[in-house]
Amino acid sequence: HAKENGRGKFCVFANEMNQRVFEYLWLDTNLRKALELEQLVVYYQPKLDRDGEVRSAEALVRWNSPERGLVPPGDFISYAEESGLIVPLGRWVMLNVLQQIVQWRNEGIYLRVAVNVSAKQLLNQSIYTDLKQALNEAGLTDCPIDIELTESCLIENEAGALTLMKQFQELGAQVHLDDFGTGYSSLSQLARVPIDAIKLDQSFVRNINKQPVAQSLVRAIVAVAKTLDLQVIAEGIETKAEEKFVMTNGVDGRQGYYYAKPMPAEQLGHWLAKHPARV
Ligand code: C2E
Ligand code: MG
Ligand code: MG
Ligand code: MG
Repeated sequence: HAKENGRGKFCVFANEMNQRVFEYLWLDTNLRKALELEQLVVYYQPKLDRDGEVRSAEALVRWNSPERGLVPPGDFISYAEESGLIVPLGRWVMLNVLQQIVQWRNEGIYLRVAVNVSAKQLLNQSIYTDLKQALNEAGLTDCPIDIELTESCLIENEAGALTLMKQFQELGAQVHLDDFGTGYSSLSQLARVPIDAIKLDQSFVRNINKQPVAQSLVRAIVAVAKTLDLQVIAEGIETKAEEKFVMTNGVDGRQGYYYAKPMPAEQLGHWLAKHPARV
């Protein structure tokens, strides 16, 4: 029996391996094509300030695949990171966002946009020089782009990443530490990295009403952030109770399905027109 069990397990394992290899190969041909054929599309999720105003949105890429429909980034970003395709993909997102910002301005909508950046995109200076050049070409004298990066960016290439973060800030971009509180974050690290804000990971918000310790953690993080003059943004707010908790505990910005899901650019224009500042 033991033998059979072991064999059964191996089969399950081999099957999973096959699926993963198949998926990798599928992505390898199709995501590259998707980029060339402009099948990627940027969705935008509004971010609310303390006063309930929306001055910024987060860019979240999706893939409009003829075969699979609208594919979420969770299904292809890690492949793009492994294969290196994240570099041209990230460049496409950045340029697309900048075009959108210019178009919005022509319609009288002034928004900053936060763009997610992976560790691999920080391995050389091109992301910075590309952004600078694109701002010039767009005729923009300010920088309406902010950068969201995770702590893995610091782990994989610390010195280079820190330099780039400072350069982004000098350009006028804010740098936000995404998914804060997951992975390897430590509060003491915050003191030595050039950032403007931390984005509290959704898991904190999700546990606020289930685990008293989550509440204490959020309060402690906010307290340290304030001491360091950092803004705190809570992501993943889905309920009124979650909103209430973060607002009464010093969180500066908020984002989540409770306000709006990520949506195409045009739809955000309509949403903004109808959105009253929400305190
Ligand atoms: P992230 O940057 O932490 O983005 C937050 C994710 O949570 C988004 O998922 C968003 O749609 C989702 N979300 C927002 N509010 C709520 C809520 O109230 N409840 C729940 N359950 N979820 C909420 P999405 O769009 O699937 O993106 C997943 C991740 O993919 C992002 O996490 C980011 O790490 C990555 N990503 C997305 N676009 C890009 C990109 O252009 N470049 C790179 N490098 N990564 C990207
Ligand atoms: Mg993000
Ligand atoms: Mg996040
Ligand atoms: Mg995330």
